[in-house]
Amino acid sequence: MSTKPQTIRQFFKQFPDDESCLTHLFEIRFGQGFPCPSCKKPSRWSRIRAERAYSCQWCGHHLHPTVNTPFERTRTPLQLWFYALFLFTTTRNGVAAKELERQLGVTYKTAWRMADKIREHMANVDGDQQVGGLGKIVEIDETLVGGANRKSRWRNPRGGKTMVMGMLERDGAVLTTVVADNRKHNLLPKVVEHVAPGSICHTDELRSYKDLPKLGFGHDTVNHTRRYVSPTGAHVQGIENFWGQLKRAINGTHIHVSGKHLWKYAKEAEYRFNRRDCADAMLSELLTTFQPLSASHD
Ligand SMILES: [Zn+2]
Repeated sequence: MSTKPQTIRQFFKQFPDDESCLTHLFEIRFGQGFPCPSCKKPSRWSRIRAERAYSCQWCGHHLHPTVNTPFERTRTPLQLWFYALFLFTTTRNGVAAKELERQLGVTYKTAWRMADKIREHMANVDGDQQVGGLGKIVEIDETLVGGANRKSRWRNPRGGKTMVMGMLERDGAVLTTVVADNRKHNLLPKVVEHVAPGSICHTDELRSYKDLPKLGFGHDTVNHTRRYVSPTGAHVQGIENFWGQLKRAINGTHIHVSGKHLWKYAKEAEYRFNRRDCADAMLSELLTTFQPLSASHD
């Protein structure tokens, strides 16, 4: 995409209608000359007006540019989807479904579903690449988020909150994952999965992390009061800064986030945080990065 719409005016200039959005998806994902998945020949594709599809010049096979995108199987106009993405990339703390409902003029149910799909898309685009590397510092920590209903606390000691574990490469990317609790058998496999071997892990004094050196990681701890950087220079201030952003997004924007969906809100915050130095490119990235056409759609 040549331009990066940062204002509503630029957005509507680039995407004035549904057709321009579909053309964009076709050009980004396939383009003229794209080999037909059915007859395998490079084809000149022509637009079929009756549906969101293009037809092969040789065999008439239909290509759907929305397949494997958040916009697949939806009757909602593409331009509204693109505009919802625009809204998601121009706010710092996310967009409430209620706000989407109001701005897009869709039902609350549709707005909620769109927001949910957009969060999943952000999670896919961000990916789950390992953080850290030999000799690199990775801050690891857990926090409880979500579950707004305080009245239910007597029934549930956590108040319906979900535990999120975060691994942040110093001055680099963060990776989040939901864990059942902070016991060793829940946390350590996540470190092995998501942190590159040889990284130096900075954690608090939680005993669960005690065995990190046995797993091939360096390990340094900070006092649990966390007011100070430890004498060895260990700290977890980066990940605490990220927790602050996640909690502002969840508590400040959304009325209630259930445990089932919480990982997606964490991924949304992760997506934004990891693009903190290139926020202007977010919309362009979200509108150009999609899963490949899967075999099942051939
Ligand atoms: Zn064909």
